[in-house]
Amino acid sequence: MSGLLQRLGVGLLAMLAGGLAAMLLRGEGKALLGALIGGVLGFGAVVAFDAMRGARLLRWLRGAQDTPAPRDAGSWGEIGYRIERSLRGLARTAEAERLRLAQFVAAMEASPNGVLLLDAGDQIEWCNSRAADHFGLDPQRDRRQRVTNLIRSPAFVAYLQAGQFDEPVTFHPPRGPGTLQVTIRRYDGDLKLVLSQDLTERERAEAMRRDFVANVSHEIRTPLTVLSGFLETLRNLPLDQAEQKRVITLMTQQAERMGHLVTDLLVLARLEGSPRPGADRWVGVDALFAHVEAEARALSAGRHVITFASAAGAEIAGAETELQSALGNLVSNAIRYTPDGGRIDVAWHCADSGRGEIAVVDSGPGIARVHLSRLTERFYRVDGGRSRESGGTGLGLAIVKHVMQRHGGELDIDSEPGKGSTFRLVLPSLRVRLPARPSLEGAASATRLTTP
Ligand code: ADP
Repeated sequence: MSGLLQRLGVGLLAMLAGGLAAMLLRGEGKALLGALIGGVLGFGAVVAFDAMRGARLLRWLRGAQDTPAPRDAGSWGEIGYRIERSLRGLARTAEAERLRLAQFVAAMEASPNGVLLLDAGDQIEWCNSRAADHFGLDPQRDRRQRVTNLIRSPAFVAYLQAGQFDEPVTFHPPRGPGTLQVTIRRYDGDLKLVLSQDLTERERAEAMRRDFVANVSHEIRTPLTVLSGFLETLRNLPLDQAEQKRVITLMTQQAERMGHLVTDLLVLARLEGSPRPGADRWVGVDALFAHVEAEARALSAGRHVITFASAAGAEIAGAETELQSALGNLVSNAIRYTPDGGRIDVAWHCADSGRGEIAVVDSGPGIARVHLSRLTERFYRVDGGRSRESGGTGLGLAIVKHVMQRHGGELDIDSEPGKGSTFRLVLPSLRVRLPARPSLEGAASATRLTTP
């Protein structure tokens, strides 16, 4: 409004100036004509001025609008300012949308499942890297490709084409992981969301569980069959006292075998279900040796030469019962598999790196290389007959490995047929501390313990 008044004012002033000029130059009669000419000129000036401002704004609009709009006074200035403001608003909204989209894509990327988006014609719109991995796709190159040209597994193609997506489909993709489960959901009309999940690990765990249950059942059924056989004998046959005694001894052995199996299974279950032992409870290696040595001598009953070297006050951080069980299993194996008259030597050693190890060395039969990597599997035995005969459950080394893993260490096995075996419990430096060496001045610090 004010712009219009200004323009009118300029026009009137121009008319007045034209009329006055005509009056002064030519006399009164020409004043009206002068005013008219002045008015036309004034109006023309206003129009030209407006056109100039309009052209400037148009030039700015045709450009990239990366500079502020022309700040002219009046309507053009305001039009420019308002356009600039709404453009800035639009840019802000677009930036926020772009950010939201980027976050959304990042969330899809972080998904543990494969995510694949298909358009109405089943062409790939987008996929995250996990889906690319599962289906062997290239997220850039394969965009806009028909999905069935790239994922050709018959089960998947049939599932997609049938259009019944209530249940997922499971198949083995030729270029992806072992087993894949795929679910499709429709959204926004005919668009499709394909979700994929790698089931390989779950299937492996399931197979392991099945094997484990089958093994346990087998291990329990064998002594049970023997026991019921003996019971049958006792009931039906008139045995003399000596025979009865023999049968009862054999039955006791079978019952003990079942007892050992249950004990080992419970130990494993406890190890799996309890938190990792803290690194602040210290167990003296010498005390550990003393405990296991007593058991070892009782088991060997003088059939072997057994030595436990002094650990000179070294300590290990961990769960005492678990460490006793781990070392006890290794020593008991060494005794059970080493023929009478053989040697078993147990010693502590601390490496320069600070790692500590307890080595159990025996002069037994040794183990062929092919078995070494499988020895810690549950129920894996090199010589099943000998293991069972000597009361083995096939779970000992699985327990040892578990204990070591819980202590951040490992079980190291070194063996060769005919040359005996060395089993080492290796512990990280964090869990090892040695007594301080006596200083030159005296023995004041001799009893103090330090971490190397
Ligand atoms: P088991 O109860 O049968 O001894 P383990 O898990 O303790 O089960 O050991 C697995 C297998 O490793 C044993 O069956 C045996 O064949 C072999 N083994 C373990 N320790 C020794 C050893 N010191 N010398 C020879 N073989 C061994």
